This record gives sequence, C-alpha cells and structure tokens, in this order.
Amino acid sequence: MTAASERLDVPQRLEVAGLTRAFGGRAVVCDVSLQVAAGQVMCLLGPSGCGKSTTLRMIAGVETPDQGRILIDGQEVFGPGVNLPPEARGVGLMFQDFALFPHLTVAGNVAFGLVGDKAAKMRRVDELLEKVNLSGFGVMHPHELSGGEQQRVALARALAPRPRVMLMDEPFSGLDNRLRDGIRDATLEVLKAEGAAVLLVTHEPEEAMRMADEIALMRDGRIVQRGAPYNVYNTPVDRAAAAFFSDINVIRGTSRGALTETPFGAFLTPGHADGGEVDIVIRPQHLKIDFDRAGRGPNPTVPEGTPARGVVQRARYLGHASLVEFRMEFDGSILTASVPGVFLPKAETPLWLMIRRDRCYVFPAS
Ligand code: ADP
Ligand code: MG
Repeated sequence: MTAASERLDVPQRLEVAGLTRAFGGRAVVCDVSLQVAAGQVMCLLGPSGCGKSTTLRMIAGVETPDQGRILIDGQEVFGPGVNLPPEARGVGLMFQDFALFPHLTVAGNVAFGLVGDKAAKMRRVDELLEKVNLSGFGVMHPHELSGGEQQRVALARALAPRPRVMLMDEPFSGLDNRLRDGIRDATLEVLKAEGAAVLLVTHEPEEAMRMADEIALMRDGRIVQRGAPYNVYNTPVDRAAAAFFSDINVIRGTSRGALTETPFGAFLTPGHADGGEVDIVIRPQHLKIDFDRAGRGPNPTVPEGTPARGVVQRARYLGHASLVEFRMEFDGSILTASVPGVFLPKAETPLWLMIRRDRCYVFPAS
C-alpha cells in the first residue's frame, strides 16, 4: 500500500525525511526517514535509549530537530525556515504517563481539546466513549476508574480532536500484563476506525508484532530495518536484528568457495569472502530434534543436513512450548531448542539436532 502510494506520488499522511538530532555533540537520532499512510500503524521498535522518544517528540513539535523535514498530508510542519508549534500540527499524543485531569470528569477530560458548540462536543465525547467501551462513564472521575479504564479515557481524549497523526510512546507499559493484550487489541480497533496515521513507540518486539502494519527497527539513532512484522522477524538484516526478537543460537564457521562446513553439514554461503568467518544464526524454534534418527548416527542424506549430537543439559516447560538446552559433543557449546508442547527429556539424554537450511540466517561474523 505504501509502495503504491509512493509510486503515484500521493502525499502520505506522515512523512519524515532525514530527521537528525544531537545532544551535547552526541548524535541521538541520525537521518531517520519514514512514511505512514492514513489508517496504518507503524511501530518504532528498539532498545531503551536508541532515540525512539526523541524521534516522536520532534514529530510532535516539542523537540527541535537539527536537520530534516516533517510533512503531514503533504504540508511541511518542519523544514528549512518552517517550524509549526505542536498545536498547529494536527497530531494527537499519548504517552506512558497519560495523566488525566483529576478534577475533571471523564467526559470533561475527553472534551478538553475540543472546540465548537457544546452539542457537537457532547456528540463527539459520546461517540468516543462508546468506541472505547466506556459509555455511561462520562460523569465519573478518573480516580474512580481502573488503570485500564483510565488508559481508554486517555485514548479517547487524544483522538477527540480527530488528529491526522497519532503519536504513542509506550502507551501500554504502565498496565499490568493480564490487561495489556485486551487493551492493545481494543486500542488498535479504535485507531483503525478513526483512520489516523499511527506512529507507536515500543521496546517490546511482541507488542510491535501485535500492533504494527509495519515495523521500523531502530538502533543507535538509526532505522536499521523496515517492513511488515513477518518480514522483519523472518529476514533480519543482521545478527543483532535477529537477536532483538528472540534468543538465538549461533554456529561460527569459515566460508570457502561459497560453502561453510559445520558439524551440521555444509551451508551455502554465497557472497561471503573466501576465508571469511560467518555466523549461522538459528532461532530456538528452528533447531530441530531428529527423533527418527535419534541414536542411529549421522545421516548426510536428509535435506536438513547432517544431524549433530548433543546431550540434554536442562529442560523447562513454558506452557506453550518446552525449552531444551543441549551441550553439543562437537565443541561443548550450548544450543537451545524450543519444542512445541511438553517435551522434558532427562539430563544427559543424547539426542541429534538438525538445522533446516531455509530456517537459518547467515551473516558475517560479528
Ligand atoms: P528511547 O525513547 O529510545 O529510550 P530517547 O529518545 O529517550 O530513547 O533517548 C535517546 C538518548 O538521548 C538517550 O541516551 C537520552 O539520554 C538522550 N537524551 C534524550 N533527551 C535528551 C535531552 N533533552 N538532553 C540530553 N540527552 C537527551
Ligand atoms: Mg522512550
């Protein structure tokens, strides 16, 4: 959708180009560019301190970029010679500490940013309270509500003036785990129905996978990868990008003639320098236990390559899967496999492991 609109040169709802900001000589946001279409949710995902909030604050207009341009519906709100104040940008904000006004009712909070006649304001307030499933709560005060209900009031308040762009900074991190999934889904539904372009900041990969149409993975002030959740998870650009989404196993080898020999057989490693070290990266759910051949020894004819033998160190049950750690015979290293359901072999059980070639990633050693 994004690509098609770009081709037709239709302005995106939110466009950011080359955004850059340093504090005390240290670059915190470097050359960040992104586009979000109306009705789309982009998650800016990255570890704490990588520059997510600073990016969001610059788009909101509460932090001034050193360089770059920001356009909303094709109109420049920041750029050379242009710097619109936050209230003139048409953006809605929602932060982790979304403090409601304690002296105002729920309806008063939602109506706070609205202008116009009283009847129109009340209609909008009622419409939003219904959308966030709080019809009838208008007369209550914030202290009478649960954390989750307060969060929904804050969402209604931010959406009330029909912002063209919604900027959300870790909006769910103050909620307890049990509530969070339900509130995320409900929030997504309301955001989609309102049709704003949403830029949501989070340091939690699961939250980004759950919420985003597109993920922008950020590290050290830069966007290192962008794409649909499926693509970012399954085709990471480098080892660190892979490791950000799950634990990983790494097998190091040396590429020779576009092949890397390992205890798991040969891997095709085209494009890697002859004699260059490579890391073969496998997520725990893709490290397969070769039950058929268990104990019968290597079989180089299987498509998964050669099984390698390890002995169980430890097995734990996590509810949806079991996590089994192996000490590998070839070098004593530890590899971890995640097995769906219940699989709890005893310590010292020998088993054969395999790596499917279409389920691993090869990077230059780092
Ligand atoms: P994130 O939201 O990804 O955790 P931030 O954008 O809040 O990261 O911060 C990125 C870096 O910039 C951090 O090292 C932070 O300390 C620094 N930083 C943010 N705001 C300021 C500021 N006003 N003055 C100096 N340093 C700042
Ligand atoms: Mg932050």
